[in-house]
Amino acid sequence: QQQVYEPEPVAEEPPLCGENQLNVVMVGIECAPWSKTGGLGDVMGALPKALKRRGHRVMAVAPRYASYAEGWETGVRIRYHIFGKDEEVGYFHGFIDGVDWVFIDHPCFHGREHDIYGGSRQDIQFRCALLCKAAIEAPWHVPCGGSVYGDNNLVYLANDWHTALLPVYLQVHYREHNKLTFARSVFVIHNIAHQGRGPMDEVNPMEIPGHHHDLFRLYDPIGGEHMNIMKAAFITSHRIVAVSHGYAWECQTQEGGWGLDNTLREHSWKLRGIVNGIDYTEWSPTCDLNLQSDGYQNYNVSSMREGKAACKRALQREMGLPEDPNIPMLGFVGRLDYQKGVDLIRDSYDWMMGEGVQLIMLGSGRGDLEDSLREMEANRHGQCRGWVGFSSAMAHRITAACDILLMPSRFEPCGLNQLYAMAYGTVPVVHAVGGLRDTVQNYNPYENTGTGWSFQWADGGAFREAIGNALYTYRSYRESFDGIARRGMESDLSWDKSAEQYEEVLVAAKYQW
Ligand code: ADP
Repeated sequence: QQQVYEPEPVAEEPPLCGENQLNVVMVGIECAPWSKTGGLGDVMGALPKALKRRGHRVMAVAPRYASYAEGWETGVRIRYHIFGKDEEVGYFHGFIDGVDWVFIDHPCFHGREHDIYGGSRQDIQFRCALLCKAAIEAPWHVPCGGSVYGDNNLVYLANDWHTALLPVYLQVHYREHNKLTFARSVFVIHNIAHQGRGPMDEVNPMEIPGHHHDLFRLYDPIGGEHMNIMKAAFITSHRIVAVSHGYAWECQTQEGGWGLDNTLREHSWKLRGIVNGIDYTEWSPTCDLNLQSDGYQNYNVSSMREGKAACKRALQREMGLPEDPNIPMLGFVGRLDYQKGVDLIRDSYDWMMGEGVQLIMLGSGRGDLEDSLREMEANRHGQCRGWVGFSSAMAHRITAACDILLMPSRFEPCGLNQLYAMAYGTVPVVHAVGGLRDTVQNYNPYENTGTGWSFQWADGGAFREAIGNALYTYRSYRESFDGIARRGMESDLSWDKSAEQYEEVLVAAKYQW
């Protein structure tokens, strides 16, 4: 039954040629599979390949946290003046799936693969500023297959506040000095709650000319007058993307903008929402390598029922839970954070246990929420497992084995786990916010449509009602439940559709001065 994955062949003739074929340089602080704490890493690992498939030349730039087998020393070493000193970085390079992966080497990154956001505020500001400086010049210095990236049609794709200095540097250090005048930048908001805030004097070491400091100045009721790096990116970038339509809208509201809503509304003409996709080479039940041992099984839409039953049995065994195919199994995977609504799960825990379900949670993050997971496991050892840690293999297995995936996020820019769940025939129960609202269609029993259950308010009652409906359908109308799962599996959640929309944005940026 096991199937071998055959990667989609890269087209020999690029589908897109001519004046709109772009040189794209995508930059992020994490990049799967080399470094990842969440969705940003997944996007950095997948979108470059999808843009390449559309015929563009694509480079992805991320820090070199460890020695990666795929990244070769180019011998190029360049000094950048930052935080009052000259800092020398090295460039490492690998060419995989048609994409140039470039890793920036500097002692400040070494050994941080499990602590990407650690250290003091100054430490992380330094790492981010250095990454941005090195990334801008990467297309000049890194020899990619003997030729440097074109002199034209160059667009940088900067992700989240960590690379928000990139559009600013591009503008004030290069374009305003008649360098890289043909280059453009697009800024992607994955999470507006983190903006790179600090006291105004923290702009000084970032090498921004004094007459541009106002780009960073923001006054809001939360922080008073402060430095805000994301604000400067909104102003200086040529286009802005938020990772779903729902989130693009929410970021412009007072509740969802975290103090940047006014600035974003002023620049809404250049804002667009584009949902993330799934990298099916990583996340497909038909070829998932994590389902090829220990009793797990690959499956597709037609073998979903048997395949998922085998995976459920295997997970019950692996977790030491009673092996019963009829007990509904609920799962949660994610960062343990206020954002993810883990406290809603904790508050509904007794009720869920009373409903006779098995609950399996995997996550790491805030200490008190990690303790909650441990407590929930200890209280009902026969029904609940709370795995504190980060394990990609376990994330895949839970996604395949569970009947229902819980995502009660308070806010969710896009969310990937609900997409993975749908691809694996696991029915998501989600709070209708941001990308969750865009991607999960509520089940309508009368018309037999929908791909999951969503609830409108992030409170325990609404959450329990949605889970209750899912359990009732699972127990009493199994055919309808399987129909919901099948519709999820059959949805096109691939990156290709999203990459086409990114391309429209990148091309629009190209035509803007
Ligand atoms: P966010 O980016 O806010 O963390 P997303 O849903 O967009 O949330 O992406 C989360 C990604 O991180 C998914 O690929 C998910 O499987 C993964 N992930 C989160 N926590 C863990 C964990 N403890 N172990 C393994 N994978 C995890």
